Amino acid sequence: MKLENFPEDIQPYLIPDLTSDEGGRLIYRCLECGQEYGIEKLLYTCPECGQVLLIYDANFDRLKKISGELWHRIFDYRKMLKISALKGIYLYHEFIGPIIPLDSIVYLGEGHTPVVEANSFLQKKAGIRFYFKNDGQNPSASFKDRGMASAFSYIQFMVGKGYISSDVLAICASTGDTSASAALYASYLKPHVKSAVLLPHKKVTPQQLSQPLGSGASVFEIPGVFDDCMKVVEALSEKYNVALLNSKNAWRILGQESYSYEIAQDFEYDMSDKVVILPIGNAGNITAVMSGFLKFYETGIIKTLPKIIGVQSKHANPVYKYYLEPDAEKREFVPVTVMSSVAQAAMIGNPVSMPRVIHLVDIYNSMSDKQKVFFIEVSEQDIMDWELLANRNGHIACTHGGESLAALVSAYEQKIIEKNDVAIVDSTAHALKFSGFQKMYFENSFPEEFEISPNPDLINSPVFIRPKDLEKVPAPGKPLTGEDFKQFVERTSEEIANALDLKKV
Ligand SMILES: *Cc1c(COP(=O)(O)O)cnc(C)c1O
Ligand SMILES: [Zn+2]
Repeated sequence: MKLENFPEDIQPYLIPDLTSDEGGRLIYRCLECGQEYGIEKLLYTCPECGQVLLIYDANFDRLKKISGELWHRIFDYRKMLKISALKGIYLYHEFIGPIIPLDSIVYLGEGHTPVVEANSFLQKKAGIRFYFKNDGQNPSASFKDRGMASAFSYIQFMVGKGYISSDVLAICASTGDTSASAALYASYLKPHVKSAVLLPHKKVTPQQLSQPLGSGASVFEIPGVFDDCMKVVEALSEKYNVALLNSKNAWRILGQESYSYEIAQDFEYDMSDKVVILPIGNAGNITAVMSGFLKFYETGIIKTLPKIIGVQSKHANPVYKYYLEPDAEKREFVPVTVMSSVAQAAMIGNPVSMPRVIHLVDIYNSMSDKQKVFFIEVSEQDIMDWELLANRNGHIACTHGGESLAALVSAYEQKIIEKNDVAIVDSTAHALKFSGFQKMYFENSFPEEFEISPNPDLINSPVFIRPKDLEKVPAPGKPLTGEDFKQFVERTSEEIANALDLKKV
């Protein structure tokens, strides 16, 4: 809809005004020593103490001057605008990047992913009402695009200002999806931005490997696991002129906050009785989701904070283990050695964002009248079983989506979730990225370390039909004709009908 056709009172708010002195003022803040830094430079850690940073809006209070109800109308009407820059995560421009001019925004179709209610069969199985939010329907088929849209919009803005050199190399370590996403966005900004990605050798799926290759990135495979790649990338970013795109980069976190904003908007800003469930790997996403809900809460856009449940596989569970200790004083973070996991994108033993999680969980719980953030671990078996069951009921969940659903069931059993709660389960990527694990399940070929044995009811495999009595069958380039072809069609359909036990009309 054109601007002039919106209600007059909403028109001044629809297109963010960056000329106002009253606008946002973003700064990096260190979570350890509290030191603040300007954003003209791309910083990852505090130059004083080395701790991770978060980006804050020093002028955030201005957003509280607009009532929650008016914000609802701004966001809901803004959805009808046909301005590319505001169609994705920057629909929430004031909250995600109030200093980024619209012409610096990179929009590749990310965000506003579908929220799909589970059918009654699946809800009955799970015991509770729930929806999947399909973040696999982002352009590179995972939620990582939310953070990349933010990080690359910032880079484009800084290149324009001359603060970042115009031949910048974007670099990241990845469990697969970060590199797919970074390479995609970098390729859009060619020739200015080039990209290189570091992957743990044989620890990403063929689909994930194909993505940065297809986008034209330089792809390096390194022995070890993600945590090893991360150290190499960190060493590179300290010594060379590169832009690090891992979630250490706080711009990624800002973009991923859009997930919370969308959930709020999807449910008419009513977060009472809502539970958001998401997997944890490097812990960037849960950081963003907490931060996003907190910002909407502080500005009165939502009146309650939803429960948040972070889930980890038993094979990569450092965050879960940390919170096992109920006494906050006694908690001590110990990195774990990861074991093979089908939730491969979350196979991280030493999450970079752990200090951010500790910081925000504290705030989140103390802003509510009771504990609102919970951590759960699930078995590899449950992850696969729930993923496959979900996808047999109309979903496109990846293994991490299965992990989140398994956590929903466990949380309900543990009474963390109540009967009347409504859960939003994050399927962080598309099922197709992890189809190799489905294949292993169906063929019962999981290596022992996964500890997964298939449930026969969930196995599916193709059936080859070739009627034995037929002499000739078609082949590529060698079609059958006449009576042979008629015979082939007749006999083959007969065998299929038999296999399916079809009744004649
Ligand atoms: C990156 C990723 C995760 C883990 O997210 P973090 O922000 O690293 O905690 C989970 N699922 C998928 C599909 C991912 O790509
Ligand atoms: Zn510091």
